[in-house]
Amino acid sequence: MGFVVGDLHPLDAGSVSSGSPGSVAAPAATLGTLGTLARFASAYGMPGQTVAIQPRVRRFMLQAGARDLLPNERVGVCLRRSIPGTPGVSVLYSPKQKAAHYGGLMVCGSVWMCPVCSAKISERRREELAAAVAAWGGQIIMATFTLQHTVADALVSLLDGLQEAMRKMRSGRAWMTFQEQHGMVGSVRALENTDGVNGFHPHQHVLFFVAGGVDVDVFTQQLRDRWLASVAKVGRYASPRWGLNVKATTADIAAYVAKWGKEPKWTAAHELAKAGSKRGRGDHSSMSELLESFVVLGDVEAGQRWREYAQAFKGRKQLFYSPGLRALLGLIAEEKTDEEVAAEAVEDAVVLAVLDLAAWRVVLANDARAELLNVASSGDPAQVRSFLLRLGVELGGISDDSS
Ligand SMILES: [Zn+2]
Repeated sequence: MGFVVGDLHPLDAGSVSSGSPGSVAAPAATLGTLGTLARFASAYGMPGQTVAIQPRVRRFMLQAGARDLLPNERVGVCLRRSIPGTPGVSVLYSPKQKAAHYGGLMVCGSVWMCPVCSAKISERRREELAAAVAAWGGQIIMATFTLQHTVADALVSLLDGLQEAMRKMRSGRAWMTFQEQHGMVGSVRALENTDGVNGFHPHQHVLFFVAGGVDVDVFTQQLRDRWLASVAKVGRYASPRWGLNVKATTADIAAYVAKWGKEPKWTAAHELAKAGSKRGRGDHSSMSELLESFVVLGDVEAGQRWREYAQAFKGRKQLFYSPGLRALLGLIAEEKTDEEVAAEAVEDAVVLAVLDLAAWRVVLANDARAELLNVASSGDPAQVRSFLLRLGVELGGISDDSS
């Protein structure tokens, strides 16, 4: 298979020379060299233009930012480094899903750090969550637990406090009585984080699966008392007014499940990028917005905040079903790990192209991973070949029906 090195973007020269084929060397810490990512700003259009960035392009772009901020984490090699022993990088197409994906590449499976893996993992988890909610014949009460914090709080300490208070709340004889009183069969806990004017705001959403006809006011009052006391036990404070928020209508639950794990619609930093100004501190930012501010605006502070978040959340479970609940709701009892979901193969995939490692490095050097998949989503190997040719990659001996 032949290839020609095409005109590489000058900013990408570093990533071509670093590492041998198949081993993408981690860059040095690059917080000070933000120019490495400034090339992505053009994806957002010129000031005054309205450009809707394609979601896959955005995810790969953010992943490149994560790699710069965390060069020693697995996200740095995710969908870049080939799996040893594979013949090369395959561009695959699923006729059933009408979507393209790569084969033969490592995936990191990090739901907190990797925008590409987390999109895939969240999609699966959301489908399952929707099935769980639909399967329950009783009532579901959603509670959001928070504790007070300031910008001076270290996130890891806040998170530990939050999770320890949650454990204390759910332990002991009084909790068992509370469960029995409301016919509670289990819960699903989701861990989330935002950043705002008072610093990081880690919080826990919990869906309580309870019997039909529960008095939500009574439930809320009892839960609030337990939460405030549990937070005090870990040496923190939760306000009676803000520490617990409860929603219990069917519409509330459906709305929560429908948007769970989805990237927020991007507007704020997008607009700021065009205005050429820094991120505002007034509103709450999602973690992907922080990363985007770093990547697109070169906002070093946002990059440091995102890195603190990624390191604090690493290894924590995003979505947790209480024991026995999955089986009760008819879900597969043995839950797949994030890594397993991220690495799941698509059964009906056909091969549109196979790139050797030299050819793949050209795709990497041109930041063309997302674009290549977008082209491959046509399912047409000729379009894939011509796209690769424009990058200067000539595939040899690959015919339309090769697989
Ligand atoms: Zn990944």
